[in-house]
Amino acid sequence: MKITQFALPTVALGIAAVLVCPKDSVAFSTIGGSLSLNQRDVRVFNNFTDTAANNNTTADANWPGYTGAPMSIWKGCGEWASELHGGTGAGDPLQTVGSGGANFDITWQGLAAGVGGTNDNIHSELSGSSGGVLAFTETPISDGWRIRYYSSWTWQDGPGSVSGGIDLQGVACHEFGHALGLGHSTDGAATMFPSISGTGTGQRSIAADDIAGVQFIYGVKSGSKPRITAVNNSNPLTITGTGFSATNNEVWFTNGSTSPTSGDPRVIVTGVSSTGGTSITVNVPATSGKGDVLVKNSAGSAGANLSNAFPVDPTAPPACIPPTVYCTGKVNSQFCSPAIGSTGTPTYAGTTSFNITGTQFLNNKNGLLFYGLLPNGASFQGGHLCVKLPVVRTSVQTSGGSPSGADCTGTYSYDFEALIVGGTDPNLIPGQMVYTQYWARDPADFTGFNTSLSEGLSFEICP
Ligand SMILES: [Zn+2]
Repeated sequence: MKITQFALPTVALGIAAVLVCPKDSVAFSTIGGSLSLNQRDVRVFNNFTDTAANNNTTADANWPGYTGAPMSIWKGCGEWASELHGGTGAGDPLQTVGSGGANFDITWQGLAAGVGGTNDNIHSELSGSSGGVLAFTETPISDGWRIRYYSSWTWQDGPGSVSGGIDLQGVACHEFGHALGLGHSTDGAATMFPSISGTGTGQRSIAADDIAGVQFIYGVKSGSKPRITAVNNSNPLTITGTGFSATNNEVWFTNGSTSPTSGDPRVIVTGVSSTGGTSITVNVPATSGKGDVLVKNSAGSAGANLSNAFPVDPTAPPACIPPTVYCTGKVNSQFCSPAIGSTGTPTYAGTTSFNITGTQFLNNKNGLLFYGLLPNGASFQGGHLCVKLPVVRTSVQTSGGSPSGADCTGTYSYDFEALIVGGTDPNLIPGQMVYTQYWARDPADFTGFNTSLSEGLSFEICP
């Protein structure tokens, strides 16, 4: 049996006292400090030189988008999560992943472009050796961490049992324990025990003493902690769970590209509302990719405000500029400001629907949508003309709404996709920007023009 030393964190432990929990029944220690929410990103610079470190090419739906060393390290760090990854912890033949039960979750951010600095939260190989040391974690953790694996060992990416080398996932799990604030444990069963026997696959799964350690630092998982139980893997993405705030949630996605070594790699959508605290619908950002999604509620910035990480493999966002509202609507005689919006995506191939809506218009009045190929903002009929001439008028519609009286219940909807796929307008081809606005009747218009005007809506025709 070969006994191999893990490394201590290279900084501080030789100087700072290691705090041992006073209870006799626990054996973990801490190095001082904890990771704030913006230091819980995990990335890999995949410079591992052993073929065995990247010979697992089998994709797993619970760890989407990554194989080899990155997937192995992702699982190793994810073991410390608040609950089973993806609901089942599936994806590793030797264990279920996600056993921490604390107010602590990582956010997987994919690949980095280099080894980064000592606080850039990146795993990578380091050329050379250091006696029996396998790997080490650079601290202090207050502003981040870095984990290095010596190239002198033969690193194995698993995913099952390994032979003839060292288990990357097990060592990643141990080293990330340091990154989150744990020192070594005297419990021989713990992942944080300072040495391993055999290949180290036993370190993949954290033990009761490790769980006590992460819960000591971050607290036992709060009952109000947001929780993701399902995602629908489409775009827009629907996230189902509990504990979301009514408004101003943040949705964190995995960065879809190899990110620069410095700076925050996270892709975050802010200001997201939920329905009943249990359902969120959000457009998938173009810069995100396969990986995990998390929700941070608006109640604070502690670990108890960030959900578990849930695997997501969203439909690729369209490679075109999404519909955007611009220009100012004209206040009508009922003191409403007519708005414009849309549902769906304008595609040349006709793979989706795309409807442009007008709301807050007077009820039971004629109106129409017009469009052109250039934006405008000139004064027009007491409001603004949001589209530059020449414009194309679509067919006249009636706004409907309340059967009598005058209010702002009038709405319009136009199936713009039919114009694109039908070839009705040969200008509407992929890559073309289009600018649209609703115009309607308003007999009591304060400005005397008998008209009502919405905001403008711009969008690009997708392939
Ligand atoms: Zn160690």
